[in-house]
Amino acid sequence: MKMLLDVDTGIDDGMAIAYAVGSQDVELIGIVGSYGNIETRGGVKNALNLLNLLGEDNIPVYVGAEHALNKPAFERLAVSARIHGDNGVGNISFEHPSIQKALDNGIDFIIQSVKTYGKELTIVTTGPLTNLAAALKKAPEIEKMIGKVVIMGGAITVPGNIRKIAEANISQDPEAAKYVFESSVSITMVGLDVTMRSILTKNDTMLWRQNGTVGTAYADMVDYYIDHVNAKDGCYLHDPSAIAAAIHPEWFTMLPMHVTVITEEGLRGRTICDPDRMRNCNPNVQVCLNVDSKQVLHHFNDVLNTVFNTAN
Ligand code: CA
Repeated sequence: MKMLLDVDTGIDDGMAIAYAVGSQDVELIGIVGSYGNIETRGGVKNALNLLNLLGEDNIPVYVGAEHALNKPAFERLAVSARIHGDNGVGNISFEHPSIQKALDNGIDFIIQSVKTYGKELTIVTTGPLTNLAAALKKAPEIEKMIGKVVIMGGAITVPGNIRKIAEANISQDPEAAKYVFESSVSITMVGLDVTMRSILTKNDTMLWRQNGTVGTAYADMVDYYIDHVNAKDGCYLHDPSAIAAAIHPEWFTMLPMHVTVITEEGLRGRTICDPDRMRNCNPNVQVCLNVDSKQVLHHFNDVLNTVFNTAN
């Protein structure tokens, strides 16, 4: 499948990039950067450096939105710097930084890609939904043309992870998320309901280290994340779970639902079933509620070990 990744690179975005690059079923046509775990420009730089590390310099990286739709600027949360490190990738340094330049107009790249590939294209977002909302607002005709969107974000049956009720990506731009969920686009929602069921441990990253300098760099990056998140003995597989759901939806249990996002204070950023549309037919969102996490973890490690080994 042709895939476009919309990321705020961040450590788990970095894992998702490697997973997409290494998956035989995926042809990654490009990456669009967003703000979120780090400022847009920093995240874009991380994506370029990780692609270079993986030997995939030919994949274009675009600069997307630098702040939420209704905000004048982006302010990085202290928790993001703590979990992802100052540079967003666990403070690892790149021996050979990428010499590729990021391209402007990430939102136009999304629009153009939908127009070029139509239903063949899967868009996977692992950051705020600002870029996608902006693309849908700028070129409303693409709404009917988009194949599938897989979103890492939200929480239906479980609490949030940034506030008690809100998941981090949705919380960054609830208005954008609401716009995307309430569109007619076919969406798979990969929220905390499933991402927190898959835990990656240092036993996994120890095996990555057997795959040369590339595996070691990735292990250093993810070990930093494991040391700084509050998961038990490891880290949740948030962003890579969206790649897994895109290529192996059969590993997930999904409930069709019309989803909306609460934008009012109090419950701001909460994803819920839209009460106004709950009796409507053909819900556009497949909400992932359960996952065969053994399959996901096994496949994820398998793909990453192979991609690290090949990249050296
Ligand atoms: Ca992310």
